[in-house]
Amino acid sequence: MRAMVLDQPGTPLRAAELPEPEPGPGEIKLAVRTCGVCRTDLHIYDSELQGEPKLPLVMGHQIVGVVIARGDGAERFEVGERVGVPWLGWADGTCRYCREGRENLCVNARFTGYDIDGGYAEFTVAAEDFCFPIPAPYSDAEAAPLLCAGLIGYRALRLVGEAERIGFYGFGSSAHILCQVAVHEGRRVFAFTRDGDAEGQAFARRLGAEWAGGSSELPPEELDGAIVFAAVGPLMVQALKASARGARVISAGIHMSEIPAFSYDLLWEERTLGSVANLTRADGEDLLRVAPEIPVRAAVTTYPLEDAQRALEDARAGKIEGSAVLVISR
Ligand SMILES: [Zn+2]
Ligand SMILES: [Zn+2]
Repeated sequence: MRAMVLDQPGTPLRAAELPEPEPGPGEIKLAVRTCGVCRTDLHIYDSELQGEPKLPLVMGHQIVGVVIARGDGAERFEVGERVGVPWLGWADGTCRYCREGRENLCVNARFTGYDIDGGYAEFTVAAEDFCFPIPAPYSDAEAAPLLCAGLIGYRALRLVGEAERIGFYGFGSSAHILCQVAVHEGRRVFAFTRDGDAEGQAFARRLGAEWAGGSSELPPEELDGAIVFAAVGPLMVQALKASARGARVISAGIHMSEIPAFSYDLLWEERTLGSVANLTRADGEDLLRVAPEIPVRAAVTTYPLEDAQRALEDARAGKIEGSAVLVISR
């Protein structure tokens, strides 16, 4: 099968011909149709995460594919069914976090496109218990970004609580989806882009943001909560400066540059800094139920599999309005 392989972090992805993976017990084999490109892929590429990825590695953890074979005991999906594979590829179900319903924090978790080969390939295998049925209204390309940008962002939105005035710092793949969810929930969205990014700000307003400006600006009103999507530590402090009493400021990324020291005054009055890690299957089921009702529409820029490196670099440069998606088969 054709695949784009990461041999070593920092080296260009290599177009390779690999043997097709075969499903083990409880696994399904998918013909990959699309795979979203996530900011996390860039962090893997740049060797910024704790721990070590499998190498060589097929990245990609926003996979939409069709079941073509089932391993022993795999009966949840029919052959021919369209399913999604997210970042959480497997959790043990037995550690204290799993037993408490927090499998996103599982100490033995395995992640798709990191510990397990992912979707930058024609075929992949996945543990069926961690896959999701894809809602019918979504095209293969539009469904892919829901699987990480959408659902980890959705988890971050839940962690912000009931905030009415919510700030989104960084308006890319995840924020453009969550903006629609937040507006649907009756929240008022304030979007922050790179300074001077008039196109990004216009994009945010089109998706329902009440106000959009540069990230060094303060919004016209205090924020009741904020999600920092950009991997830029100083934005956590910037968001606190914009925050009302009791506001929660949540980082939605897996990696961030250092957060600079700041005066306690900014945190006082029960403001909170926090992070979101990974996803639970319940997060995924919740988002995939509400997304078609809203309906959330993902803006996607598509690339053929062979252009995965270019997709990564375009994502890094912030050139993409919405999400980058590899189209692998139809
Ligand atoms: Zn991701
Ligand atoms: Zn566990």
